[in-house]
Amino acid sequence: MIGESAYGAAKGQKDVVMVIFSTGIGTAVMIDEQVLRGKHHQDGVLGGHLTTDIRGPLCNCGNRGCLEEHASHRSLLPRARESEKFKDSVLFSVEEMSYLAVIDAWQSGDSYAQEYMNELISHWSAGIVNLIHAYDPETVILSGGLMKSAHVLLPIIEERVHSMTWTPWGKVGFFVSPQPDASVLLGLSHLLDSEQ
Ligand SMILES: [Zn+2]
Repeated sequence: MIGESAYGAAKGQKDVVMVIFSTGIGTAVMIDEQVLRGKHHQDGVLGGHLTTDIRGPLCNCGNRGCLEEHASHRSLLPRARESEKFKDSVLFSVEEMSYLAVIDAWQSGDSYAQEYMNELISHWSAGIVNLIHAYDPETVILSGGLMKSAHVLLPIIEERVHSMTWTPWGKVGFFVSPQPDASVLLGLSHLLDSEQ
């Protein structure tokens, strides 16, 4: 978030929720230009552990049905293996299960991948809606490896989120980090710069 605020997609924005889709799912929140920290440094950073399915699997954080347990890079294979249809999918024989592999299979018309992408989109959207309802941002910034496919995913996620959020003041704006792989690195480099 600090990186994006100084150099990237959040430049000039004051009220921002950021979601980084990576191995896990990281979040950060800036309200009125202040990055939230909280009494225990947990404010705004546990968005990956918002519940998106109360009957979902146990997460290593202790909660059940976390967004990260359903729709992060690390959860792709365990969740897919729960489906009977997985073994008939092209995804069953990919060398490495990844966001990109799922999106490729989805776009190629693979039957299981259609179902799985619907699930993933539902979890990603629910997580973002929860964050919007919790923090009242003007802007949502999406980043991480998943956003290499933003050209196909963003319009779908954006429409789904808008249809599910209660924002009578208007619509939350969506931005994709211009360097999805570098958000965290940019933040660290900015912290180092400001300490010098
Ligand atoms: Zn969790």
